[in-house]
Amino acid sequence: MNQSVGKKKISIVIPVYNEESNIEKLFNEVHSVLSHLPYNFEIIFVDDGSADGSLLKVRELTQKHDFIFFIELSRNFGHQNALKAGLDFSQGDCAITMDGDLQHPPSLIPDLIQMWEQGSDIVFTRRMEDKKLSWFKRKTSSLFYSMINKLSDLKLENGTADFRLMDRKVLNAFAKLRENELFLRGLVKWSGFRQVAVDYIPQERHSGKTKYSLFKMISLAFNAVTAFSIKPLKLIAYIGLSLFLLSLCFIPYVLISYFMNKTISGWTSLMMVVIFFGSLQLLILGIIGLYFSKMVIQSKQRPLYFVRDTNYPSQIHLN
Ligand code: UDP
Ligand code: MG
Repeated sequence: MNQSVGKKKISIVIPVYNEESNIEKLFNEVHSVLSHLPYNFEIIFVDDGSADGSLLKVRELTQKHDFIFFIELSRNFGHQNALKAGLDFSQGDCAITMDGDLQHPPSLIPDLIQMWEQGSDIVFTRRMEDKKLSWFKRKTSSLFYSMINKLSDLKLENGTADFRLMDRKVLNAFAKLRENELFLRGLVKWSGFRQVAVDYIPQERHSGKTKYSLFKMISLAFNAVTAFSIKPLKLIAYIGLSLFLLSLCFIPYVLISYFMNKTISGWTSLMMVVIFFGSLQLLILGIIGLYFSKMVIQSKQRPLYFVRDTNYPSQIHLN
């Protein structure tokens, strides 16, 4: 029994998607850290439509401990939505989100709490450059952050992951968000609450494999940029304007050539122009399409997730 009167309560929110082999070890580590701290706590596992025995493992834990809760989503809604579900349900004075694969070291939890007690509303973490991670993962990750920073108005620091502490007032503010295609890292920065960073050395994934394929990373990056900036649309307008001005200069040349009877059919240059403008138009249409698709999805106002089952006592379904 960890509940005692007068103590502040910490919620730990862990999204799991096929993390069967990590859950027990993660729980043991988190529990041994928390049990030494003078706080009440709850651990909320959000099962994001796992196809393996993850939910079963979590349910077993809920039988043994009264501070463990599960939220079973009706299908796989994605990492960001699973996090939102856990945060919406949590009732602590603050909530800490972390991955279910032990890459986010539980030993950092006391540091996060200490910074929070010192007055920060959000304590986010920065993953330090780690030689153990594959070269590919490190490169794609730093490309991810530099692309977001260049193309949007956000300034995200390299290696900020979804391992962070948020105060109750931030959680209440976030509960009001109705934004589809969430990018929590960006929203945290955008929200403007008092925030501070803690650096950590990432661990290797305990077992299982990453759910963020290269394609998913690219899709998250597109999401992040289009959610926080219209810079790509402006860029399109600038390209359009420059090409228009360029073509104005080209017209006299074409006319003079015509009147001087120098119009020799040039297949190569024609092909180059066709290919260049063809692909440019596709690119531009694609970017406009990305924004348009965001409007279509948002206009439906669908909830971010559905809960199939939970043992959480609160009946408030904020989403
Ligand atoms: N996750 C999830 N739903 C998904 C994909 C991932 O809940 O659709 C969870 C996953 O179980 C893990 C966390 O999100 O706890 C981060 O995923 P992962 O470790 O695969 O990402 P990486 O650390 O490789 O970027
Ligand atoms: Mg991971």
